[in-house]
Amino acid sequence: MSAASALYQSPVSGPRGEPAWPPLAQPFADLGAEFSLPVAPSPLPDPALVAWSEDAAGLVGLTGPRNAREEQAWALAFGGHPGPLTAASRATVYAGHQFGNWAGRLGDGRALLLGEWPDAEVGGSTWEVQLKGSGPTPFSRMGDGWAVLRSSIREFLCSEAMAALGVPTTRALCLVASSRPVRRERIETAAMVTRLSPSFIRFGHFEHFSYGGRTELLPRMVQWVIERHAPHCAQEPQPALELLRWAVARTAELIAHWQAVGFIHGVMNTDNMSILGLTIDYGPFAFLDAYDPLHTPNTTDSGGRYAFARQPAVAHWNLLALAQALLPLIDRPESALEVVETFRPHYVRAMQRRLAAKIGLERVEPGDGELFQQLLDSMAANRSDWTRTFRELAELPAAPTAPLPPALAAQFQEQPESFAAWVDRYRARLLEERRSDAERAQAMDAVNPAVVLRHHLAQQAILRAEDGDYSEVRRLLEVLRRPYAAPERAADALPPPQDSPPAALSCSS
Ligand code: AMP
Ligand code: MG
Repeated sequence: MSAASALYQSPVSGPRGEPAWPPLAQPFADLGAEFSLPVAPSPLPDPALVAWSEDAAGLVGLTGPRNAREEQAWALAFGGHPGPLTAASRATVYAGHQFGNWAGRLGDGRALLLGEWPDAEVGGSTWEVQLKGSGPTPFSRMGDGWAVLRSSIREFLCSEAMAALGVPTTRALCLVASSRPVRRERIETAAMVTRLSPSFIRFGHFEHFSYGGRTELLPRMVQWVIERHAPHCAQEPQPALELLRWAVARTAELIAHWQAVGFIHGVMNTDNMSILGLTIDYGPFAFLDAYDPLHTPNTTDSGGRYAFARQPAVAHWNLLALAQALLPLIDRPESALEVVETFRPHYVRAMQRRLAAKIGLERVEPGDGELFQQLLDSMAANRSDWTRTFRELAELPAAPTAPLPPALAAQFQEQPESFAAWVDRYRARLLEERRSDAERAQAMDAVNPAVVLRHHLAQQAILRAEDGDYSEVRRLLEVLRRPYAAPERAADALPPPQDSPPAALSCSS
């Protein structure tokens, strides 16, 4: 059954009250064994449904489980137990550059593509359904195929938090815990996240066929993505060049989003770059607390290659690797390079737009670039909290003589002079704006989140969940669904307590 022809069917209860899932199509299998292999998931022992996202479920027309019996049915189905959802699961093959080096063949080492569901809206696109942490595959290399509860909670919560922030991302439908022990730095337990995405294709999929010596298969990979996600490219004389142009634009927008919300991905290898410009593969990520441009939470990244401020340049590097992979399908190498070189101006424009909105300007005027930089420099010198500072800035009166609100001043205690100089300049700039203080504050609060998934918040939920109490995961999910509203519990919006250890996460989790 092709996805396009699959009529949406509401999930109805089966004879014993268990959910009957909408039928899954698996068109990726039609590309053949060079693209993916059939692999069955390894079922989780003692599966327990930790949490599910009502918003993600709605995308595919599901409602969350309504009672303990349905929760158990979800835990079994999304814990990889045999059933209609796992009947046609496949591991896809991709490659990638890791930390700047060619890593060769990688592939889904602990994830499986179950198939795809139609969007809940008639005429909407389809959603690929993927289990992550589903056990060994032929692409597991040295890995065990498992994902631990700790990192699965992080991925589950952050996927949904990013979506609520408006950042392009893969989604997380639900999270299942288990009793299976897994060895990492310590013994932990295995979990599975069910992810949804229009596509899980990465830059690395193209690199596999191009650098891996199977260039004759590259056109099929390109055609697959164009047909389903970027049909406008097919009309152009060089579809692969158009696909590259599209990926460059979407990646530029994505990175501007990341920088604006203070998100550090942590492992921007080309196998972790979505061709659709989505945030994918939440591993050693973090949101900035105190602003340090060269911060990375990834302890494996000793050189800071993937530090916060380097993300735009790394995205550009990764796009060059993608362009290189597509060269066999592009007439002139120079044209591919020209397209990649549009990344920087596109990113700068997108970022300036976002920064303008973050400080309450309606448009970007000449000279604003320096205004933005001066603020960022002062924030770095003061180690101001990224999220709080923009929220507090909304409370600053435009009147030149009005005193600084104390909560704002508190973010600039180390070097108040640099901030005072910036405030003068900012207030002069605000004279060109027509909005009142209240209107500006309202606009700023709509783009500057009050709550992001800070490391210490995730840690609190993880510690409780490791003790079998999932209530904090579920509570945080609810808070993160409305990141622009002041949270009910004020502590959710606060920087970490002084004694709270900073995020220090390794790649392997
Ligand atoms: P990552 O950088 O974590 O996204 O993973 C890079 C590659 O390693 C991908 O091919 C993953 O499927 C694979 N991988 C990561 N962790 C594991 C694991 N525990 N078992 C098997 N493969 C893994
Ligand atoms: Mg990955």
